[in-house]
Amino acid sequence: MQPDHSFEHPNRSLLMNSPDLPFNARSGLAELALGSRFGQLPPAFYTPLSPSPLPSPYLVCASEATAGLIGLDANELYTEEFLRLFSGNAVHPDSRPLAAVYSGHQFGVWAGQLGDGRAILLGEVRADREPLGTLELQLKGSGKTPYSRMGDGRAVLRSSIREFLCSEAMAGLGIPTSRALCVIGSDLRVMRETPETTAVVTRMAQSFVRFGSFEHWFYHQQPKALKTLADYVLEQSYPELLDARRPYQALLGEVTRRTAELIAQWQAAGFMHGVLNTDNMSILGITLDYGPFGFMEAYDPAHICNHTDQQGRYSYRMQPRIGEWNCYALGQAMVSLIGDVDDVHEALSVYQPTFETRMASLWQAKLGLQSHSHGDDQLVARLLEILARNHVDFPLFFRRLSDVKREDSGSDAPLRDLFLDRPALDAWLAEYRQRLGQEHSDDTARKQNMDRVNPKYVLRNYLAQVAIDKAQQKDFSEVERLLTLLQRPYDEQPEHDEYAQLPPEWAAGIEVSCSS
Ligand code: AMP
Ligand code: MG
Repeated sequence: MQPDHSFEHPNRSLLMNSPDLPFNARSGLAELALGSRFGQLPPAFYTPLSPSPLPSPYLVCASEATAGLIGLDANELYTEEFLRLFSGNAVHPDSRPLAAVYSGHQFGVWAGQLGDGRAILLGEVRADREPLGTLELQLKGSGKTPYSRMGDGRAVLRSSIREFLCSEAMAGLGIPTSRALCVIGSDLRVMRETPETTAVVTRMAQSFVRFGSFEHWFYHQQPKALKTLADYVLEQSYPELLDARRPYQALLGEVTRRTAELIAQWQAAGFMHGVLNTDNMSILGITLDYGPFGFMEAYDPAHICNHTDQQGRYSYRMQPRIGEWNCYALGQAMVSLIGDVDDVHEALSVYQPTFETRMASLWQAKLGLQSHSHGDDQLVARLLEILARNHVDFPLFFRRLSDVKREDSGSDAPLRDLFLDRPALDAWLAEYRQRLGQEHSDDTARKQNMDRVNPKYVLRNYLAQVAIDKAQQKDFSEVERLLTLLQRPYDEQPEHDEYAQLPPEWAAGIEVSCSS
């Protein structure tokens, strides 16, 4: 049976001037029907402009999985035409490229107008699967825009590879995220701490609207534009809320809920975003704008992955509170729309319970427990306390925990190897075993379930760094290898065991910081 690819959106009016976005599964670049509902917003929302050409571009890597999301045939990724389009050297005939304006709070301080300083929205294409609807394609690092401020509009190869790999790794983990289609490199150099070569990443998401997009109109005292934006987001991304009794309140509530869910998933994965400014917060509740992110290795709740974040505002343990702070910033921007401060508070009040409930169920799954029992919170807290005291590697611990047998401590050695204070681990394991006994946990089934939620492979900083060092020498094989590996992080892939080990000592010296 032929799938039905006719496009049905609840609000066709916004599509009036767009092509009908037909999508044939498996198609070529020529058939990419780029519409742009964002481009039909009033002119104050963006500046139309073309990407700046990238000299002598070459393909660094491409994600066939991401291409599949828009039905793009994998063979197209390796063509000259692909290089031209996604380096920004050519513009697809259906594309009306633009850079969007937004503002935001950076490190807790109102920063005023920001905007796509180095990103260009090419337009949106029909996804190949129903729940995805349409996906916007955006170039990052494609040259200066009116919002570049002091920046050069470029992104270096290093940060582009990090964004590419992490987007795909997060998708592999099952965490909501923007996706990455490709990285295209060039020998064009820009100055950072030292001169570095540049690249363009193509990202994909249903929407790149940020909390800061709402704050922009609130702080510029333009309630009409704010309403236009809210209506656009409702129609494009939350059509199911259009029928709510109070759609704007429902929107804030749903964004808040998704944000709380997202941050719980980050905590469980040990993911740290690094720059949780309101301009980096997605209105869809997906992970957006990868910069100095990190994955927890030696467990330390105070860990700060962003070298420039000296106060630790965005440390691992702060993320849940910052997520809520950011929702409050969005709520403040929406007060006039919602009309009643109590209604705003009501919408925001879903954050805490959502986060706590999701967090508890994620810990439960990580420990392989079938139910939640009184005392489990303490079991988790005591575990995290000994992990921190012993600087235990976070992913390795949880992956090895699935080998623990309910009745037999003979197989504890790999876990004990991770601890200095082994009696502390033994004491915790005794408690854990008691808990497993309570629910008659089956060793085999538990291991299977745990290995589905505790990844064997994570994008450790040093793994990314090795791939980047090679890529800077024009050897892209390691980027490719990591991509394939991280798309299936829960699978054993025994041929890649060496990627699931403790980091080497030199890894401690890696520093990543804001915008590069
Ligand atoms: P970030 O925190 O990295 O997401 O960036 C904050 C703001 O700075 C955004 O508006 C970016 O578009 C902008 N920006 C970052 N790096 C550059 C750059 N190299 N050139 C122009 N704008 C930039
Ligand atoms: Mg940003």
